[in-house]
Amino acid sequence: MMDYFLTEDQKAFRDLVRQIAEETVKPVRAKHDREGTFPWDVVKVFADAGFFSVVVPEEYGGMGLGVFELAIMTEELSKVCGGISLSVAASALGTFPILISGTEAQKKKYLPKLASGEWLAAFGLTEPAAGSDAGSMKTRAERKGDEYILNGSKVFITNGGVANCYTVIAVTDPSKGARGTSAFIVEKDFPGFKVGKEEDKMGIRASSTNEIIFDDCHVPVENRIGNEGEGFLVAMKTLDKSRPGVAAQALGIAQGAFDLALDYAKNRIQFGHPIASLQAIQFMLADMATSIESARALLYMAAKNIDAGLKNVGDISAMSKLLASDVAMKVTTDAVQIFGGYGYMRDYPVEKFMRDAKITQIYEGTNQIQRMVIARNIIRG
Ligand SMILES: Cc1cc2nc3c(=O)[nH]c(=O)nc-3n(C[C@H](O)[C@H](O)[C@H](O)COP(=O)(O)OP(=O)(O)OC[C@H]3O[C@@H](n4cnc5c(N)ncnc54)[C@H](O)[C@@H]3O)c2cc1C
Repeated sequence: MMDYFLTEDQKAFRDLVRQIAEETVKPVRAKHDREGTFPWDVVKVFADAGFFSVVVPEEYGGMGLGVFELAIMTEELSKVCGGISLSVAASALGTFPILISGTEAQKKKYLPKLASGEWLAAFGLTEPAAGSDAGSMKTRAERKGDEYILNGSKVFITNGGVANCYTVIAVTDPSKGARGTSAFIVEKDFPGFKVGKEEDKMGIRASSTNEIIFDDCHVPVENRIGNEGEGFLVAMKTLDKSRPGVAAQALGIAQGAFDLALDYAKNRIQFGHPIASLQAIQFMLADMATSIESARALLYMAAKNIDAGLKNVGDISAMSKLLASDVAMKVTTDAVQIFGGYGYMRDYPVEKFMRDAKITQIYEGTNQIQRMVIARNIIRG
């Protein structure tokens, strides 16, 4: 692995995450994957270790670190379990809108609870008829005095059944399309908020994915994030910061699968020798290692650029997610191949990595959408 010249603090943090992943996540990942259950016990350990506080400024009880450290943490956790890692990554996704455009009062009220892990957050953009075309959302927020009344639903919401607060984008002016949307903080106990269908998924099965429903849901005006009409903008700025998190998840999944495949190749004997002595296997390993390192280099630099406050980070953020997720899918598929028939069996952990990898090409914008974002940025210049 290349040296990325992490500071001593960054190395210590990475090593702590690695240790917790090995000791706390590894023993339970297969069980949560099989049963599709949310790992509350592990989340408690993450909370005590401060994992939910990484990007929250110190004045609100956080570590005051950046997208880079968030990526290092997500990578390490995903090396062991791409599903369990998402509990923290999705909470960061739900927290970003408050960090980016929240009022001082919103920050004071919500960030300390989210940083401590006492509360989990989630982010609600997608609707049944508005996925890639998120701007065509229908969930309505009508102002009535000092409240908004929300009606509609969001689907596939990560942490949907378990979060205490949701940053949600809804339509405040239907005549203006995406420019008529606004962002809100919705607490799970607000009247009219309901959790709907829980999804039964191919991978990341330890992550909770639910529909959330607003049935005359009362949201105080002071819970609007940013101005009316800025909802889509808040969502896009959020995704610019969070897509490297998906890249980090993908990278961790790829690295985890690669490590298993390498170990297996050195130990599996066929034709009298370890299969690692076969050039066919060696070339697969070489390609896997090269693509993983490329994804890591792009992700780390993208995260550093974002943390340095570079403007117009939409393209590098999308590039990091696009590359790492495609790498994860290819590497995990090849890892199963190296395991042969055993790779196909649930007794071995490698098939789970392949199932977990697929989602990284789909959420926070499919990879077709990432290409559109990158192309738009390139062409505009
Ligand atoms: C497990 C899981 C967790 C999720 N978590 C969250 C969450 O926490 N919050 C949230 O808001 N959303 C979440 N999502 C939603 C996710 O972001 C969407 O599923 C995704 O953006 C795609 O939308 P869609 O599923 O409606 O697919 P569609 O938009 O219907 O796309 C179908 C296919 O058409 C392609 N396509 C669509 N438009 C174009 C185009 N213009 N050009 C080229 N190809 C195109 C797509 O790439 C895709 O291959 C989650 C989804 C899943 C599965």
